[in-house]
Amino acid sequence: MRVVRFYAPRDIRVEDAPEPAAGPGGLLLRVRNCSVCGTDAKIWRSGHPNLSPPRVLGHEVAGEVVEAGEGADGWSAGDRVQVIAAIPDGICHECRRGWMTVCPNTERIGYQHDGGFAELMRVPAGVLAVDGVNRIPDGLSFAEASLAEPLSCVINGQELARVGEGQTVVVVGAGPIGCLHVRLARARGAARVLLVERSARRLALAAALVAPDEAVEADGTDTAAAVRELTGGRGADVVVVAAGSGEAQEDALRMAAPRGTVSFFGGLPKDRPTITCDANIVHYREVGIVGANGSTPAHNRQALDLIASGAVPVADLITHRLPLEDTVEGIHTATGGEAIKVTVEP
Ligand SMILES: [Zn+2]
Repeated sequence: MRVVRFYAPRDIRVEDAPEPAAGPGGLLLRVRNCSVCGTDAKIWRSGHPNLSPPRVLGHEVAGEVVEAGEGADGWSAGDRVQVIAAIPDGICHECRRGWMTVCPNTERIGYQHDGGFAELMRVPAGVLAVDGVNRIPDGLSFAEASLAEPLSCVINGQELARVGEGQTVVVVGAGPIGCLHVRLARARGAARVLLVERSARRLALAAALVAPDEAVEADGTDTAAAVRELTGGRGADVVVVAAGSGEAQEDALRMAAPRGTVSFFGGLPKDRPTITCDANIVHYREVGIVGANGSTPAHNRQALDLIASGAVPVADLITHRLPLEDTVEGIHTATGGEAIKVTVEP
């Protein structure tokens, strides 16, 4: 079979590999869609500390069961499924409290386990052990189902930031994750959603799709002041930073209303992880800062339901569909500014 394997930064090869088997407690999938994540571009540039090469990349996976391994009860050939990306151990201190996104023993599809940029993928037994394989509702395409994984991370982020009814929400970053944040905020009852983005081109593309109440170009002038002005001087109840920028995180603190919450949804580059935080904003305005790290199996199920019910449509966010052979090109396209979501169809 054909696979897309990472060997080293800037060395990702499309090549032949032996077909995997389901193995005890696992499944063998025929991958129908594996969508490209911003992280795939980061891996292309600089690898990842948790990624052991050579490794088949891809973690936004939807496909069809080819074979169920011994003990993988309830699954059979032909089942249409979506698969979690982060595999918590399910038994540690954090997992027992339901905090599976911060399980210290998490393993990941496409990092420690071969991923979905391949014709066939083995779903490890550990995924089934935490209920991480979800049936795709009838009427939902594999391409849409593959976006359940990124949406599940967005759900985790908005739960932690407590996005809700009547709020003003600012989303910084108009990539696919930012677009999902705008749509989920509306689904959760936000009254007003502002979208902030540095690239005028990407902002226009995203705004045409998700129709924020205000599209704000971060053009190097005082973006936080612009946001405060657009919110009657009060600021936003929740500011989600869906961009890997320390400067955007610093700005976000100045966009938050009294008692507001700032979500550092995107991580920062490993070599520049610190920011300057105006602690008096946090102190006097009682602003909260929360993180967000992936999603749980339950978030993935919730995401599939939101997509299937139409509460969070995703089909129109898929701007590019590519064959497996063009995956590396797709990874570049995803960061290029002319795409929202790129999906690979092996
Ligand atoms: Zn755990």
